[in-house]
Amino acid sequence: MLKIQSFEFNPFNENTYLLWDEESKLAAVIDPGCYDDFEKEELKNFIETNRLIPSLIINTHCHIDHILGVSFIKENYNVKYLIPEKDLPLHRKAVSQGQMFGFDLEELPEPDEFISEEKLIQIGQDKLKPLFTPGHTAGEFCFYSEKNKFCITGDVLFHQSIGRTDLWGGDYDTLINSIKNKLLTLPDDTKIYPGHGINSTIGTESKQNPFLVNI
Ligand SMILES: [Zn+2]
Repeated sequence: MLKIQSFEFNPFNENTYLLWDEESKLAAVIDPGCYDDFEKEELKNFIETNRLIPSLIINTHCHIDHILGVSFIKENYNVKYLIPEKDLPLHRKAVSQGQMFGFDLEELPEPDEFISEEKLIQIGQDKLKPLFTPGHTAGEFCFYSEKNKFCITGDVLFHQSIGRTDLWGGDYDTLINSIKNKLLTLPDDTKIYPGHGINSTIGTESKQNPFLVNI
């Protein structure tokens, strides 16, 4: 079984998720957004208290609020860093993205691997299936666990909302198609863990999300 813990970090109220396999304690940090020392300590304390062994950073996409803590995790743990290949230009623009929003950020470490739908992501004994869901950015992925009945939906699908499409690489029709074909096709009881805001389920959003009722 995969366990999951969420943290709300940085002025954008970004959700960082920690996923771990109960048996091996191997863990993945999804979208590390921790920025100030207090937030970094909070994440580190949780990892230590629960004796977790971070082995991966997985980024749904490379907007500034989702990458602020990448260097901190890389420096403190022996992790592989996975990003969507089509978000590489955003990743390389991390410093200027930071300047634009008033964050003090140095160059990020280079990614170790690109995420692909062809390759399941292993966390201990468990696996996540990457779903290619562009539209909020050109390369964004969601991560689905059929066994554990949840999906990390990044900035693609939120409770009662969807990702904005007015930033670099955003495209409204592409986003709607991603949601329709990759997310709304998941079982209704799939819990969603979005990049901002509270959890929901696929069933709730397919019926009640105002952006999705007429698609
Ligand atoms: Zn975003």
